[in-house]
Amino acid sequence: MTTTHILGFPRIGAQRELKQALEAYWRGEQDAGALEACGRMLRARHWALQRAALDYVTVGDFSFYDHVLDLSLALDVVPARCRREDDLVTYFTMARGRAPGAEPAAACEMTKWFDTNYHYIVPEFEAGQRFRLRAPRIFQEVEEARALGHPVKAVLPGPLTYLWLGKAMTPALDRLQLLDELLPVYGELLDGLAARGVEWVQVDEPILVLDLPPAWCQAFEAAYHRLQSRRVKLLLATYFGGLEDHLELACRLPVAGLHLDLVRAPEQLAPALDRLPPYKVLSLGVVDGRNVWRTPLDAVLERLAPVRERLGERLWLAPSCSLLHVPVDLTLETELDGEIREWLAFAVQKLEELALLKRALDEGPAVVSEALAAARDAWARRRRSPRLYRLSVRGRLEAVSEDWARRASPYAQRRAKQRARLDLPLLPTTTIGSFPQTAEIRAVRRRHRSGELSEAEYRARIRAEIETAIRRQEALGLDVLVHGEAERSDMVEYFGERLEGFAFTRHGWVQSYGSRCVKPPILYGDVERPAPMTVDWFRYAQSLTEKPVKGMLTGPVTLLNWSFVRDDQPRAATCLQLALALRDEVRDLEAAGAAVIQIDEAALREGLPLRRRHWQAYLEWAVQAFRVAACAVRDETQIHTHMCYSEFNDIIEAIAAMDADVVTIESARSRMNLLEAFRDFEYPNEIGPGVYDIHSPNVPSVDEIEALLRRALACIPAERLWVNPDCGLKTRAWPEVEAALANMVAAARRLRAELQGRAA
Ligand code: GLN
Ligand code: ZN
Repeated sequence: MTTTHILGFPRIGAQRELKQALEAYWRGEQDAGALEACGRMLRARHWALQRAALDYVTVGDFSFYDHVLDLSLALDVVPARCRREDDLVTYFTMARGRAPGAEPAAACEMTKWFDTNYHYIVPEFEAGQRFRLRAPRIFQEVEEARALGHPVKAVLPGPLTYLWLGKAMTPALDRLQLLDELLPVYGELLDGLAARGVEWVQVDEPILVLDLPPAWCQAFEAAYHRLQSRRVKLLLATYFGGLEDHLELACRLPVAGLHLDLVRAPEQLAPALDRLPPYKVLSLGVVDGRNVWRTPLDAVLERLAPVRERLGERLWLAPSCSLLHVPVDLTLETELDGEIREWLAFAVQKLEELALLKRALDEGPAVVSEALAAARDAWARRRRSPRLYRLSVRGRLEAVSEDWARRASPYAQRRAKQRARLDLPLLPTTTIGSFPQTAEIRAVRRRHRSGELSEAEYRARIRAEIETAIRRQEALGLDVLVHGEAERSDMVEYFGERLEGFAFTRHGWVQSYGSRCVKPPILYGDVERPAPMTVDWFRYAQSLTEKPVKGMLTGPVTLLNWSFVRDDQPRAATCLQLALALRDEVRDLEAAGAAVIQIDEAALREGLPLRRRHWQAYLEWAVQAFRVAACAVRDETQIHTHMCYSEFNDIIEAIAAMDADVVTIESARSRMNLLEAFRDFEYPNEIGPGVYDIHSPNVPSVDEIEALLRRALACIPAERLWVNPDCGLKTRAWPEVEAALANMVAAARRLRAELQGRAA
């Protein structure tokens, strides 16, 4: 018999029940008991779904905030500043700096989980770090699942992945040195699971798909030899990519089973089969845990049949990775276009796919022939659907040539023309696009969506909002203005809704961090722009002022990276289609009088492949797409781009290759240190390093901003330096925004006077 399981299930709940419970608890409206009850209810529900379809239910994937944080607490890796009497309070203090009825503290850092949009809480390791077991929640959850009669497989982050993901708080500390301390406690954790009747523990070691220093590879051998003596069987899980040069190592480790991601890296199956020792189980990730398309069951079965022959009982089937990264249940999407719905599978549907695959393998395809035929037909209908292809788009793609990705003149010439047109002062000031999204604005958008507000009323309300934003910016004395983005709920959704080729769900939420979820659009077909998307709002904003207003767009790479993307053509091809649609918008903005157009690429860096070897190819097509979107304009039109991160060392060449006239970046938190990369590279165009951190409600003083600008001036010549915040201001409130921007403008003026005095 083939064994089926999953690596993890979404925890947020089909109706985001966990979000509601968490937020009610944080606001103090519900006590911890109510939160615990919600957790139990969700676990029970998710286990029941797994029980109905699979051989094991997975326990340990549930979390009130993040599974890495759960392990930190279980191992007592708790920063002193966050320690509180109660475990749950400690937990939320680490996660978000505060918990009901307790002293706040600086929260732990949060960062992206591999190449996903999920964020984990970074463990903090001190010199002399000790570990000890501290009432792990997973023990209680295993008992809970067993009491419900479920066959349990437990899951934990592996010890090496855990250390890798953490951060050494003491400069000289090498995380790998902590392994000796960690392993005995990790072993106790495994024993505790064994004592509760667990036979299999899935140990997640996704770092095996990364480029690893040799010392870390060696540590894998040592670590798993030491854990071998424990009473549970270990299933070493790898995902998000292929093992490549670590395949040997992974096959050799003394564990009872290995899980491979065959969606991202199908080619690793053959070499793995050749190397797998005869006592090991092989779990194959054949259902995509990162995307929403139905599995091509026929093709999978064809690949699996010989494997099943060869492995017999040792074959396990699973999704490629945890289902955390897909929405919960497609059956809730009653408003979704029926044709598109048929192409999709969310977490619940993916369980059903696994059950089908198992039956087909164990009992022969005939017993599930109807279901297989249905899947086959749905798949074929998608492939054949006229909605996937647009002749107009295809024709245009053929016409794209190198010229499309090149500005008419090099930067130096553009610069002269832009200066003449814009007549900006030295150190021009601007913002990144959005202004506070007040409850009122959100209500306006919501009422418009539900039809409660007529189109005309809606437009009037947004116009009023734009006018307020323009007046405020004029009063502040900013040099390049923005319209404020009041009409946008989200920088991807707004454009997706105005482009052909995108579909939207009602409940397709995916956890981003804690209680925060995103609802990525589904990019299923050729992308085309039926009509201008932003031009009217721009035109209105510009009509209100003599100052230049920026046209504001989300770039092709960001639209791609924050959507569920079609899998029937390379991502690069889809990205180019997005670029063409945006290119038209850029042109229309220019024609409407925009002298400055900003194309945000907030997600360019996060699309980087996990292995460095694959970076070049990605960066090439990503940069090309940006340029196709940006390069249709005349020399005197200034193109800006914005990126909200601060690591540029590795990709500075690609940033320069984008050839934007101005790039604005996040830099306040790193105190401008990142500018050294731009200095050393001799970055040729203009830069606006963020001078204050918009994630904090604190208002920076004129002196603080001035000090940062002076640091920036050490790296960037004054003629090429812009002054702006780190990112958009939509999460902030007006009073703090006005105060901070006033200080920003004052700091810029002070320095400007000084520099000009010096020049005179
Ligand atoms: N223009 C967007 C804004 O200001 C950029 C957001 C982002 O970079 N994430 O909100
Ligand atoms: Zn940003």
